Amino acid sequence: MLNANLSPDVVNGFLDGKPKLLLIDGKFVPAVSGRTFDSINPATGKVLAQVAEGGVEDIDLAVAAARRAFDDGPWSRFTPFERQAVLLRLADLVEANFDEIAMLDTLDLGAPITNTRARKQRAVALLRYYAGQATTIHGQTLPNSSAGEVLSYTVKEPIGVVGAIIPWNGPFGMAVWKLAPALAAGCTLVLKPAEPAPLSPLRLGELCLEAGIPPGVVNVVNGPGSVVGAALAAHPGVDKISFTGSTATGQAIVRAAAGNVKKVTLELGGKSPNIVFDDADLDAAVPGAAMAVFANSGQICSAGTRLFVQRGIYDEFVERVSVFTRKLRVGSPLDPNTQLGPLVSEVQLERVTGYLESGKAQGARAAVGGGRLLSDDLAGGYFVEPTLFADVTDQMKIAQEEIFGPVISALPFDTAEEAVARGNATTYGLGSGVWTNNLANAHRVAKGLRAGSVWVNCYQLMDPAVPFGGYKMSGTGRESGPDHIEDFLETKAVWIKTG
Ligand code: ADP
Repeated sequence: MLNANLSPDVVNGFLDGKPKLLLIDGKFVPAVSGRTFDSINPATGKVLAQVAEGGVEDIDLAVAAARRAFDDGPWSRFTPFERQAVLLRLADLVEANFDEIAMLDTLDLGAPITNTRARKQRAVALLRYYAGQATTIHGQTLPNSSAGEVLSYTVKEPIGVVGAIIPWNGPFGMAVWKLAPALAAGCTLVLKPAEPAPLSPLRLGELCLEAGIPPGVVNVVNGPGSVVGAALAAHPGVDKISFTGSTATGQAIVRAAAGNVKKVTLELGGKSPNIVFDDADLDAAVPGAAMAVFANSGQICSAGTRLFVQRGIYDEFVERVSVFTRKLRVGSPLDPNTQLGPLVSEVQLERVTGYLESGKAQGARAAVGGGRLLSDDLAGGYFVEPTLFADVTDQMKIAQEEIFGPVISALPFDTAEEAVARGNATTYGLGSGVWTNNLANAHRVAKGLRAGSVWVNCYQLMDPAVPFGGYKMSGTGRESGPDHIEDFLETKAVWIKTG
């Protein structure tokens, strides 16, 4: 029996059967073309809501609204304390409405309700962290060596209009992660959610208005990435793009942004190594290695998908992870006991099952899982079995390419040097994990890994105060941490001849 706040009815006010609109200049409006698209519930394959499908004209309107709000709207006159206050109000509203937000992401993305509800703490903490930063932005007074008396100092100013393009794997949290630092810095933004998960970012837009953020400061335009995202990335009225998504799309964004030399930050794909030494606490490493991939059904860019296991414990470890995996509860995202839901879309299902076939064809052995999950209860949903492939070699496609599904490739290794070298032998560099009880080994391996995050005896920990981002083709720039807000600021040097 579901308790009331776990009932899907909690979203009935928001999903009232009418199409969900675009948020432009403080108003919810249909797309100029009048078009809509269906948002599908991936657990059932059924239509959840119709959503206005933005086009280039809608991006023009949204950028113009953001531009006005930035250049001469009331937002430009908000003091740092006022920006802080409004972000704190937004945090309170997000906290108060999180049952509904979690349910929207569960229905739209298929993430288990227990997981989406657990994301409340992070979403609220992000808003409060950046609210705190709004009043800490400052320049410096810097001595110079000019002849005569000349004072020089710097001021920090908001960069302008931000285009925030987000993926579908954590729609609400991603939207907040982009919006909070932009607003704290004094920027305005146009947020472009991903096609498979358009709903909770619209709810965030509503809450922004309720919090007292003036019209035009936050705009939300859904629509196809190749149209709406591309138009935003190329738009001359946008000063910065903050993007999270695939490496190929990140590359397209860099090219599109070159037109007006936008500042660009990118958080892209990964094929992260998770390295288990024979001295590790296996009781922790077994669930750690499994959930480093199976959390969110593998749809996390920093998932530890290349599981390197020291040869002496390889067979035992593969067996223990398989036993753990067989006990995972895969099923309806609405059931509070479910640990893995479906994949987000039919496209993703085809992609992941393609990799499952490729692994088998190239000689990997599915120690657990290996196929689509079909049963009467799950009919219509995009479910796959959580899978561990053993006997994988570094050259196999499943060991090289980002799958974005619940698929682990287990690879044996002998020495720490070898594990680091093979762990680094990828174009990516986002996450990485090390499991060992030897402190010196932990430090050496953490130093050797070329990745933006190294988790030792844990995986995937995140905090608003700790930077996250990628080396190599996993991206550029860092999100979270004390310096993130710098990406939304320009530095102006002022010289005053006083002599
Ligand atoms: P995925 O392949 O997982 O959908 P993408 O990188 O394509 O990942 O998508 C991430 C976000 O980028 C989504 O919001 C998507 O709509 C958007 N997007 C896709 N193509 C482009 C593009 N050419 N320019 C800008 N944004 C895009």
